[in-house]
Parts: sequence; C-alpha cells; structure tokens
Amino acid sequence: MARLIQIQKKDNVAIPVQDVAKGTVFANGLTALNDIPQGHKIALRPLKKNDAVIRYGSVIGCLNRDAQAGAWITGDMLELPELPSLENMPWGIDINAALPAAPRETFYGYDIPGVRFAGIRNFLGIMPTAHCVSGVLNIAVEKMRKELLPKYPNVDDIVPLNHIYGCGVAIDAREAHMWIRSLKNIMRNANFGGELMVVGLGCEKLTPAMLLDAGEITSENLINLQDCEGFTAMIAAMMGMAEKKLARLDTRRRTELPLSRLCVGLQCGGSDAFSGVSCNPAAGYASDLLVGAGATTLFSEVTEIRDSVHVIAARCVSEDVARKLAAEMRWFDEYLAAGGVDRESNTAPGNKAGGLSNIVEKTLGSIAKSGTAPVVEVLSSGERPSKRGLVFAATPASDLVCGPQQLASGMVMQVFMTGRGTPYGLAAAPVIKVVSRTQMKEFWDDLVDMNAGTVVDGEETIEEAGTRLFNMIIDTASGLYKPWAERHKLYNELAVFNPAPIT
Ligand code: CA
Repeated sequence: MARLIQIQKKDNVAIPVQDVAKGTVFANGLTALNDIPQGHKIALRPLKKNDAVIRYGSVIGCLNRDAQAGAWITGDMLELPELPSLENMPWGIDINAALPAAPRETFYGYDIPGVRFAGIRNFLGIMPTAHCVSGVLNIAVEKMRKELLPKYPNVDDIVPLNHIYGCGVAIDAREAHMWIRSLKNIMRNANFGGELMVVGLGCEKLTPAMLLDAGEITSENLINLQDCEGFTAMIAAMMGMAEKKLARLDTRRRTELPLSRLCVGLQCGGSDAFSGVSCNPAAGYASDLLVGAGATTLFSEVTEIRDSVHVIAARCVSEDVARKLAAEMRWFDEYLAAGGVDRESNTAPGNKAGGLSNIVEKTLGSIAKSGTAPVVEVLSSGERPSKRGLVFAATPASDLVCGPQQLASGMVMQVFMTGRGTPYGLAAAPVIKVVSRTQMKEFWDDLVDMNAGTVVDGEETIEEAGTRLFNMIIDTASGLYKPWAERHKLYNELAVFNPAPIT
C-alpha cells in the first residue's frame, strides 16, 4: 500500500514515499487526485485560498487557490511567508541540557600540542599567496607526489591550497579581511599538522605578512618565485622546502584522544523533500552525540537558516551569541539585496523537482542537521571557534564555498547530506556523503557512504541511523574508514568566499 510521510501532527500536507498515480489510495484512506511525484506535497484535508500550508509544524506558505484533500500542492500554489524579523529575537528559551550519551568518547587522531583541534589526516598543505603561482606549484606538487611522498609513508598526501585571489583584488576593501582571514586559517587547519608552507610571487597585493605572523616569515616557510632564477630553480626550491616538512610530518603517529579534540563540519547540498525527513535529522542526532561527548560541530549556510532563524535563536546560550546570529543574518540580507536578489534565490531547480517548493520549506529541513544542542557560538565567515560544542559558522550555502569556509573554521571532516546526489569533495578533509533515499544509495553505491533512506523505508529510526553515522564519523576520524570521495580523490577547487571587489 502507498505510504505517506507526515512529519508533525499539525501538518496539513504529507509526502508520498514513491511516485503515485491519480486514484491511488493511501493507508490513511486518502485518494490522490493527481499523479504526484515522490516527495512532493499532497493535501491531507480540504484547504481554502489563503490557508497556511504547514509542514515540520511550521508555515511554509499560504495557498493562492483552493485545494481539495488529496490534491498535489505545487510550488506555484504557495505564497512565501514574511521573512522573520531579526529585532529582539527571543534567545535561550529552548536549551536542551539532556543530549544523548555517545557510545564512544575517544578517537585516534594526530595531536598538535597547544592547538584546539586534532588532525585526522596527515597532509602537507601548501598555500600560494596569489593564483599567479598556482601553475608552477601544481607541477611541483606532482613531482613531490611522485618523488618525495613514497619516502615518507606516514604522510597521506600533499595538498595545494589554490585560490583565485591574492592579486587583482581590492586588498583594502571593507570586506577583504574575510577572505584573507579564511586563507590564513585554512592553512592552519589541523589536518596540516602545524606545518606552514607559503609560495608567493613577490609583487602581489596579498603579502606574506598577511598570511604569516612575524616569527613565521622565514626561509623555512616562505618562497618567492621572483627570487628564483627560472622555472627549474623554482621547482627545486619548492621540493627542498617540502622535503624538510614531509620528514617532520612523517614522524607523527595517531594517539587516542577525547572527542573534545574533534571538529566536524555539517552541510547539505542537492537537497530534496526527504533530506529533512531522513539524512538531516540523522546527522542532527549524530551531532547531538558528538556534542554531548565534548566535540565541536559546525553548521552553516546562512540562506538555509534565515527563514527559521528564530528556531536557532531560541537555542543560543547567551544574548551575545543571539546578537551575533542576528548580525550575521543582517549582513547577508544586505549582501543579497546589493546583488538585487533575496533569500528565494537559494533554491535550485533540482530542489524544486525534488519536491521542495520554496526556501522556507528547504530551511526547515536544513536546520534539522543541527540537532537539538544549544548553540554556544556564532562565527563570521572564516573565523575559528573559541568554544566547544555546536557552533553556527556563517557561510553561503553554496557547497563549494561552505566547504573551504568550514575548513577555515577548523573542521577536519565534513558530513554532507544530499537527496539528489553530488560528487563534491575536498582534498584537505574527508567528506562523508549521506543520502536521503535508498534509491539514491543503490544508484550511486560507489559515491555514497551512508543511506539514511532506511528512515523513509521505516526500517530504522532517526536515532539508529544517527548512531550509525556517529560511528562512521569516529571511524573516519581514526583513519579506519575512507569515504568514497577520498578514495576516488574527488577534490573540488577551494572557492573561498570573497564578497570584496575584484579590480
Ligand atoms: Ca550547501
């Protein structure tokens, strides 16, 4: 018999688990009045023009026409609710002090003494100051991988941190500090073991002093290509510097560490109507387990919480945190307005094809990945946390931009939830893919790490799927599991967020 998923009792729409034909009768006695695609909304009772359509217990829009029980509720039938106000948001009224107990409290990582988070991979990261040097750097890295890496088997890889900024930018622009801070923090990610290697050109606007502290600007850490006599000398200089660092990294070993040393990023992309039913709530439960055991988890993607920001504010531990949350939202509202768009520009055609009618519905499913833990800190783009626990790190929702920004904020692994599927990955941190539907896992079996569609199928609870994901996170952190994106080396370029002008 055809099944429907209704999330909360007061919802007046539900979604079918499979495509249904007109005339299909559901277990609850409802008859489909249209052919309705999997994951799209069906009215559970007769609705009138101007009635609120309720999903996740919240209003996702108001109807612009009548709909009979059993009718397909499409996006063009819904008018967007008003954007929640950022003024005087009630904070701290939904603090969950009883997080579930984690089945494991340690992992095996690479300790860096004096550094908040531990690494989970042993990489040499190399940061160019400007894109001008990336061509030469890429050739040097190929040579390093071939000639040096085999001599240092405890090092996992060499990661060029190419980006398109550094020169040709307005370096003193109001917002330029955001991408500069991001680059500075990305190369300090714990997966790079505390080694700093910067390759500059010599005449760029992003001077080494903007990436390195005074004591770090040494011939050990910095090469300027304009100081090298030709291409061969450039390659030789980079090889020599890298070899010294690889030799040091090679002596490192994993040790058992408490989960307080782990920082995990959460994001979603290619979402569908099941994302908020299965993979995002499962990730939220895994996040609660991690946070309960002392770990730090980052959630981001401003446009995917903006319409439910009051829900997040209610979980903020202090007025300062709630105030910074509002400030980050306000900044992004203005950023979008300056580009002549609003929050609805977030939703992609694939989201809509998957049954997500508008940004409000997408947001309610998206915030499920933050679980129920209190929000202890809010970070501006590329900032690093000063606290442990659940942290909102403000980033765009774009998968390719959220990734590098979370790397800057310290995440050593990302958990990525998807409904429609994406082969996205990062060279600097393993990315675990969790899908919302069983069909997707079967279709992309060699790209998807975990199926949360079991929740949709009624085979697993959110808690069971979330615990399974928690264990996969710990195994990945300890080097016992390699996600598919890491095995295939599916590495996207670093699209660092830059709201400042290019000149
Ligand atoms: Ca995303």
